Amino acid sequence: MKYVDEYRDAESVRLLSEKINSIITRNWNVMEICGGQTHTILKYRIEELLPPQITLIHGPGCPVCVTPIEMIDKAILLALRPDIILVSYGDMLRVPGSNSDLLEAKSKGGNVKMIYSPLDAIKIAEQNPDKKIVFFAVGFETTAPANAFTIFEAERRGLKNYFMLCSHVLVPPAIEILLKSEKNSINGILTAGHVCTVMGYEEYIPLAEKYKTPMVVTGFEPVDILSGLLMVIYQLENGNCFVENQYGRAVRKEGNIHSKKIISDVFEITDRKWRGIGLIPQSGLKIKSKYSHYDAEIVFNIDTTGFDESDICIAGEILQGLKKPGDCPAFRKECTPEIPLGAPMVSAEGACSAYYRYTK
Ligand code: SF4
Repeated sequence: MKYVDEYRDAESVRLLSEKINSIITRNWNVMEICGGQTHTILKYRIEELLPPQITLIHGPGCPVCVTPIEMIDKAILLALRPDIILVSYGDMLRVPGSNSDLLEAKSKGGNVKMIYSPLDAIKIAEQNPDKKIVFFAVGFETTAPANAFTIFEAERRGLKNYFMLCSHVLVPPAIEILLKSEKNSINGILTAGHVCTVMGYEEYIPLAEKYKTPMVVTGFEPVDILSGLLMVIYQLENGNCFVENQYGRAVRKEGNIHSKKIISDVFEITDRKWRGIGLIPQSGLKIKSKYSHYDAEIVFNIDTTGFDESDICIAGEILQGLKKPGDCPAFRKECTPEIPLGAPMVSAEGACSAYYRYTK
């Protein structure tokens, strides 16, 4: 299969691994930003192919994991209203809020539907004119264009019953918070290829320079990860710190201009709280005031106070790369994919679910 099989080729993997082993002279910590990359690393046991001098640190790139608990609580409150159908992606339905999750809200009579595409939300709004449809839209820059497009579509189709509960987040401000932290031990970064497919990588250039940290835009297959690591290690060993693009088959420096325009037409940048990390200035997207009649937070004025995280869950430290899932006392005990205590055990991009699936 073009663009997949060749990036899982065992011989290419072996050669890359040998090359990394041959150039490394010191210890380096490299963070992969995206949870999709974490899953590839665990699934293909990439750490076993690396020299012991490389420590991989898993980053915060799981949008479901970082969606703030108060937004989940708001979604649950909306879902329990008889006039509303709450729609979102499958992962979101099982993420714990303060006291329950959206599936539990459904079991209590809430109208919750799982969708596979943002346009499914528009379809549901057309099919249910007597209900208000609230799309719980989360994600990084990757999903922002398609989610923003639903606002255009709702307008074009004259829908008065479509709303969005928007909890989008942006990657570069989160990277800066991690690099600024006193606890930072990151020497190099694999940035998320799909985010850069949309946004390009110009935003990362000043970050790499300011924090003297090489960054490589990297894809999601084993050959991508090992190529990205080779590029990072090569820079580190040579004292360089610039941005390189390993994922050239999908990413241009300037990104996708059309998608960026859709995002900036509908959304504006705002401060956003990240679950487990806290408020990160200018790290989120909110609906622009000209589209505020689609903004569920404004239209329904939902107030959630007194939200509460599980005492035992250390997801915040895992998302910041300070701990690994095995460090959590609840991992594989009280917390499993069937009964998750925290979002990283639910999400397809969560580090805890990756360790649960691919390690013993
Ligand atoms: S294993 Fe469960 S409780 Fe522990 S950090 Fe991960 S999600 Fe939280």
